[in-house]
Amino acid sequence: MGPLSVQGWMDSFDSFEDTLRRLREAFKAGQTRPVEFRVAQLQGLGHFLGANKQLLQDALAEDLGKSPFESDISEIILCQNEVDLAIKSLQTWMKDEPVATNLLTKLSSAFIRKEPFGLVIIIAPWNYPLNLMIMPLVGAIAAGNCVLLKPSEISKNTEKVCCHPALQSCFAVVLGGPEETGQLLEHKFDYIFFTGSPRVGKIVMAAAAKHLTPITLELGGKNPCYVDDSCDPQTVANRVAWFRYFNAGQTCVAPDYILCSQEMQERLLPALQSAILRFYGDDPKTSPNLGRIINQKHFKRLQGLLGCGRVAIGGQSEESERYIAPTVLVDVQETDPVMQEEIFGPILPLLTVKNLEEAIDFINRREKPLALYAFSNNRVNQVLDCTSSGGFGGNDGFLYLTLSAMPLGGIGNSGMGRYHGKFSFDTFSHHRACLLRSPGMERLNDLRYPPYSPWSQQL
Ligand code: NAD
Repeated sequence: MGPLSVQGWMDSFDSFEDTLRRLREAFKAGQTRPVEFRVAQLQGLGHFLGANKQLLQDALAEDLGKSPFESDISEIILCQNEVDLAIKSLQTWMKDEPVATNLLTKLSSAFIRKEPFGLVIIIAPWNYPLNLMIMPLVGAIAAGNCVLLKPSEISKNTEKVCCHPALQSCFAVVLGGPEETGQLLEHKFDYIFFTGSPRVGKIVMAAAAKHLTPITLELGGKNPCYVDDSCDPQTVANRVAWFRYFNAGQTCVAPDYILCSQEMQERLLPALQSAILRFYGDDPKTSPNLGRIINQKHFKRLQGLLGCGRVAIGGQSEESERYIAPTVLVDVQETDPVMQEEIFGPILPLLTVKNLEEAIDFINRREKPLALYAFSNNRVNQVLDCTSSGGFGGNDGFLYLTLSAMPLGGIGNSGMGRYHGKFSFDTFSHHRACLLRSPGMERLNDLRYPPYSPWSQQL
């Protein structure tokens, strides 16, 4: 196999080894540590996003049929806000955190220093190809690291934009698919930040283990959405349909399936039909607001899932456009293929349960999800208290992600670690425990040295 295709630092195509060496040398020389350097990098990133908004929207439209509105709110503006927040907060985040001392360490300076790991690799998926690369990049730069970015090879147009020379300084972009990424991970990095499927997460974690490299895994799974009988069906339908069909359902935190009673299902179906009609019109295929499936492989996979249970709404598809209509399935069994894998498309199965307790039991029998949603006038807190998930939405979808003070991260099968805002800075920083003592006043230490006296017990 030939050398990996790399567009590296200083706007030139280099061999992968050269790029890695240059990044390491830049880090060793301390180039990325000064606050001024970090701010300049972040400003450059902000400028890149602002100046290339149209280019980015076009790339996202070509990759995913994303409307400019969806591109703006879920990718470009979120990234811009993250850059602005990091620039504004950097001095505070970087400050040493003082730690209270005890009798043994009185008269010392005790603090936690946030220091960069060194060379970080960020591996991104295709579904929010800009957001999921730039958001962690902001944290990695803010923390003073050198960064190698590996965008998804599947969202090809966004991948191309990410090779823009303006995006290269003490970070670089490397292109490639599974094989190249596997090769890449044979090298030692100081931190690995991976977003993608649990299957590949295990491969990346095994590679990290060979070098004892610390790692964040932002993974996926099936996100349950419980709806109880107290809810107004139209309100639930509007909120769930927007979050389920946003980005054509290719969202890691989208509600994956609904659990509700038979009575609520009967009230929800017309409400979902009405929400879909209102959002996407009579013929959703012609709607500029509905995205497309990323590629043929995923299209075929989703087409296969349309055969589960019974189609209550939608169900149409067209291969040449990679179009799948906003779809609702009913009469789905827990053992059906659609309930065995993350759907990652505009298909919403409804499963009936007798009551809240049965719903909670259903949720807790499965892997811990990245997100969990509950709609109820009075029992949201019961679902929150009796379950576990990466994030939680009561009476709405993944709006919590718009709050930069909220962490994004999974638990169990949906991942480990968290980021966004200050969480990103902390993720990409080693928290170094520091205690600075006076070289004098040695008499004070007598108490801790043998032979121990009854006074030693007082320490
Ligand atoms: P994926 O796991 O197939 O690929 C992710 C990245 O890993 C890509 O850059 C890809 O090139 C690389 N990769 C693929 N196979 C590899 C291998 N064998 N060895 C090393 N690297 C490899 O995921 P995807 O299909 O791009 O994205 C969809 C998945 O990502 C879903 O499961 C979704 O839930 C998850 N996701 C999670 C989050 C989150 O924030 N937790 C966000 C978006 C997507």
